[in-house]
Amino acid sequence: MKYSKLVKGIKKPVRTISGVTPLTVVLKPRKCNHGGCIYCPGGSKVPQSYTDQSPAIMRAMKLDFDPHKQVKARLKVLEIMGHPTDKIELIFIGGTFLQYSEKYQKDFVKACFDALNLRKSRTFEQAKKINETSKHRCVAFCIENRPDNCSDKEIQNLLDFGVTRVEIGVQNPNDKIYKKINRGHKVEDVVLATRRLKNAGFKLGYHIMPGLPGSNLRKDLKMFKKIFKDEKFKPDQLKIYPCQIVQGSVLSKIYKKIGYKPYNDKQISWLIQKVMQIIPRYCRVMRIMREIPKEKMVFEPIKLDLRKEVEIGLRNSRKKINEIRMREIGFNRENLNLDLEMKIFEYAASNGKEFFLEIVNKDNILFGLLRLRILCSPCSQIDSSQLALPNCSHKKQLIKKNFINNSKKFRANCNQRGNLAIVRELHVYGQALEIGKHEKGISQHSGFGKKLMKKAEEISKKEGVSKIKVISGIGVRDYYKKLGYVLDEEGIYVEKEIN
Ligand code: SF4
Repeated sequence: MKYSKLVKGIKKPVRTISGVTPLTVVLKPRKCNHGGCIYCPGGSKVPQSYTDQSPAIMRAMKLDFDPHKQVKARLKVLEIMGHPTDKIELIFIGGTFLQYSEKYQKDFVKACFDALNLRKSRTFEQAKKINETSKHRCVAFCIENRPDNCSDKEIQNLLDFGVTRVEIGVQNPNDKIYKKINRGHKVEDVVLATRRLKNAGFKLGYHIMPGLPGSNLRKDLKMFKKIFKDEKFKPDQLKIYPCQIVQGSVLSKIYKKIGYKPYNDKQISWLIQKVMQIIPRYCRVMRIMREIPKEKMVFEPIKLDLRKEVEIGLRNSRKKINEIRMREIGFNRENLNLDLEMKIFEYAASNGKEFFLEIVNKDNILFGLLRLRILCSPCSQIDSSQLALPNCSHKKQLIKKNFINNSKKFRANCNQRGNLAIVRELHVYGQALEIGKHEKGISQHSGFGKKLMKKAEEISKKEGVSKIKVISGIGVRDYYKKLGYVLDEEGIYVEKEIN
């Protein structure tokens, strides 16, 4: 497939290089339900996992954590800095969003939409509706959450709010380590949350913390390998925040007693360099290192720009890297080869079948991607804790084939056709362009999205699915309408019959 005439190079700032403009809003401080993880700074005047010296937190404090004021203020700054503000990714940080009261959650989201819409709405639904065509559209929406706050009801709330991406704190999926760090949940919660969130169509990110008490470099590398080998995990994105000792944390009081020492720059560089080489092509490493001010650290902090050094080293050594960010067009502007093709990578994950579609050039540089999940509902509900639901239509088959006690074997041999297709992400890379604008040489708005969607529909049809659903940011619904999609009955997904 030839796309050469659609693109050339791009040269614009990094903030919007992935196509949308992120806008961070901070939740008011509150104590975590389970108390606290031992590495958490645990402040009371700021969100528990942050310090009062992080720039985003300081800005939010000045505005008394008021969501409307925060969005308004950020829009103003982004505009002054020359960033496009018509396609916004709302990002809530500061705590486990779903542990706040439902009223707080809803009011908070509405206030953000009202600020984007430049007017106050009477109801939450009205605010969402207005945003579909407003000046500042919410095209993506991310919240941070704990794996044990992902019940069906909680996930439904996220869908109602228009959330498209969820980041869960996984740290190190190991029950012994969870106990040591007082994490307050089990690996099984991570497995269930991963499956439920993917089945609902969310893009899923894991926060991973190498260097926790009870781990070491060898074990951490093994942990990363497991995350991408074991189909129970396989996240779409990672944030890698090595464990550091922050003042005020429980760890700062006990580290001497337990003989704990965090990794140094050299150790982290070694680990990240190894990890980047095993990250599969469907995963993006969003961030490495948390910005915690030096003054708040007990040990010398790890260099914040460590990722840059590691990536330069990897590029110079010509190692083959499949990780998304390193392959994005926005970070590879020199000598771009424009001979493009669409590649499809299929993999099993969380009891479903994932198709990762990407438009790449001969050098593996990424111009656009789509995540399609095919699942048959009964299979998708089978997991290690619940092998077959009482009403599962596959139950007889499971028993007959003697697969009832081996869900893995069952999935491998299951020849049932899928009955649900859901597009979890459609992303065309390159500098963010204003909605409706076409600029020569830029890959957004060049028809890549349409081509990827068409291919997703073809695959779904082949998989025996008659309807395809898309989890769409509220502000992108209009785009899908042009491709023949309509809002579903519940007003959550956009969908299309593909028979
Ligand atoms: S879940 Fe997050 S905010 Fe809560 S204690 Fe642990 S690290 Fe801190």
